[in-house]
Amino acid sequence: MVHVRTWTKIALLITIAIFLMIGAISYIYKPIYSVTLDGELIGYTENKAELQDRITKYIEKGNSENNIAFVEIDKLPQFQLCLLKKDIETNDEEIFNEVVEKGQAYYKFYAVAVSDDEKAYVSSYDEAEQVVEKLKDKDSKNKNDLSIIEKYEKTLEEFSEVDDVVDELYEKKVVVSSYAVGATGVNTSTTKVDLGISLIRPVSGIVTSRFGARWGRTHKGTDIGAPAGTPIVAAASGTVTVSQYGYNGGYGNYVIISHGNGVQTLYGHCTTLMVETGEYVSQGQLIATVGTTGNSTGNHLHLEIRVNGVAQDPQNYLY
Ligand SMILES: [Zn+2]
Repeated sequence: MVHVRTWTKIALLITIAIFLMIGAISYIYKPIYSVTLDGELIGYTENKAELQDRITKYIEKGNSENNIAFVEIDKLPQFQLCLLKKDIETNDEEIFNEVVEKGQAYYKFYAVAVSDDEKAYVSSYDEAEQVVEKLKDKDSKNKNDLSIIEKYEKTLEEFSEVDDVVDELYEKKVVVSSYAVGATGVNTSTTKVDLGISLIRPVSGIVTSRFGARWGRTHKGTDIGAPAGTPIVAAASGTVTVSQYGYNGGYGNYVIISHGNGVQTLYGHCTTLMVETGEYVSQGQLIATVGTTGNSTGNHLHLEIRVNGVAQDPQNYLY
């Protein structure tokens, strides 16, 4: 039984020796992994788990900062444990870049479409939603045809700014007035119709021709003399239902604003029109300038106030 004890001692000594050797090796050497991709050595790393984790996350989740949704990679890198001297250079960053560059990135972004026709691209859903909201706020004609499409593509489209997309897609609603030019009637009685709104003077000046009978016909408005180019402002807020250059049955360049409840104001003989049909204007907003276009013999504003198409005497309300 003596030699058994001896063998036990020897085995113990060998074990101790092995531990000492491992200790010595790990003092000089450290575990390091060589990384190969497609059979080609691309570098060394000490942080196998960390690097693998980073690559996996990138493949699955991409990088939201540059719109990468996920990445398709045919071959994953191979890690091989090797013992190298401690001063070997590791290059985790290069390995990562090399691996992801070999992959096919899929980009995620959003298209704003009108009737399913993609019109512009934005980076985030939030921006796409802002475009739609802004167009709805502006009451754009196409507001009910808008949609947001989530895109996954191999190439990135050029992105637009929210406000640029809004400007590009905005379509004014054209409201066609049934009594665009002539009033359908004239209130020749002295009864003052309640407009339900208060008006302000569109121009300051003196009345040069009153409402009512004039030279054998009825003058459907009030003329206010003012120099050419004098600003004309909206008498009340409303939607511009006509803003048109031309002779226009004698009105010349003229604007009609609808204020609701059948109340309209008309501004005739203007020089420059500053608003467009379909536009919402607030009370006091510049809409045109005084001129003498159409059937006119001097610079003045021809102002009409109509209720359900019937011309009222503006001097019941103004001047
Ligand atoms: Zn007139």
